[in-house]
Amino acid sequence: MLPLRSILLGGVTFDDNEEYFQFQFRFLFIILLFGAFSSILFIVSHVTGANTLPSGHIVTTKFHVAANFILAAVLYGRKSAFYPVAWLALAVSFVIFISAMLLVPEDPLRVLWFFLNLPAVFLLLGRRVGICTAILSAACIIICNHYLQNPYPPNAIATSIVGFLYISVFFYSYSSRPISYFHRMLESNEKLRYLANHDPLTGILNARTFYEVCDRMMCTALRDKNPFSVLFIDLDHFKKINDTYGHEAGDTVLKKVTSCMADTSRDCDVYGRIGGEEFSIYLPDTDHHGALILAEKLREHIEKLMPVINGAPLRVTASIGVASNQPRHKAIADIQRDADQAMYHAKQQGRNRVSSL
Ligand code: GH3
Ligand code: MG
Ligand code: MG
Repeated sequence: MLPLRSILLGGVTFDDNEEYFQFQFRFLFIILLFGAFSSILFIVSHVTGANTLPSGHIVTTKFHVAANFILAAVLYGRKSAFYPVAWLALAVSFVIFISAMLLVPEDPLRVLWFFLNLPAVFLLLGRRVGICTAILSAACIIICNHYLQNPYPPNAIATSIVGFLYISVFFYSYSSRPISYFHRMLESNEKLRYLANHDPLTGILNARTFYEVCDRMMCTALRDKNPFSVLFIDLDHFKKINDTYGHEAGDTVLKKVTSCMADTSRDCDVYGRIGGEEFSIYLPDTDHHGALILAEKLREHIEKLMPVINGAPLRVTASIGVASNQPRHKAIADIQRDADQAMYHAKQQGRNRVSSL
């Protein structure tokens, strides 16, 4: 079920990396509705006689209401409409501000509209557009003032220009903060995702993510009726390596074996660390024959690896179990169980060998 907020915006959804855009999208939608609402208030106050306005400006105010509603409707449910709508909303706001400047001379505070617009422009269209809008607003006030019967005094114009400068500097600095927080949040999320999905020692997928990825790939393979196989790799007498040379030496061996696995397997193969010295490789589009060839190649590579431990090369071997798709394999756990059993069979047969059920 869609959350209420999503329904209110036409069911648009945003990815994790669109957090700031999501804020901008919602903000623009609210600003459009609020703009229409505030203009409706002026029309109502005019109709009731509480605040009569020149008829020319009432026409512009009605135009403002209609334009804002239309723009909100265009934006509704369409992420791609954001920038065109934001630019048009900015243009429409200038129409009503200039109308107020020229057609409502009895309101000395009408220059304020230009100021109220600026923060939203900085947040919606960025800092460069914000600065340009501040310059344009100052230019509008100066030019409109030229055509007024009772122009603003030079002091008021100077205050306006300094005011635009002040707001521009303020929002130029301020609007960089949420963006930089957002980028830092993206970076942190990326790091957290990496840590959650990878084994810290070898840098390859951890068991949970390996199974997740493989389940997805297996689902596609079953649907397309493509073959697939799984290798289960367990290093032989690894405890002895730890006991003889120390845990650090054991870690070095694990990293070397991981690099060997990466070099031996194809780009489309998925490999992960399942436990201490146990690894698994999912081989898409690979039948049993192909999997046995790859497993044997990997076994040989590990045997020839001879990592240098304490200044001397050390012979490391692995027992590898191979399982290929069978009708009873509905999830990765099913085929992995068979590969694990085959690996135990390889251990029983004397280790440093490939076995399948
Ligand atoms: P087998 O040939 O029957 O597989 O014997 P083995 O010694 O390899 O198997 P066993 O399960 O008895 O020992 C696995 C060892 O792996 C025990 C554990 O200390 C070690 N180990 C597990 N995780 C790590 C690790 O991250 N680093 C290091 N250095 N050792 C680890
Ligand atoms: Mg083991
Ligand atoms: Mg072992």
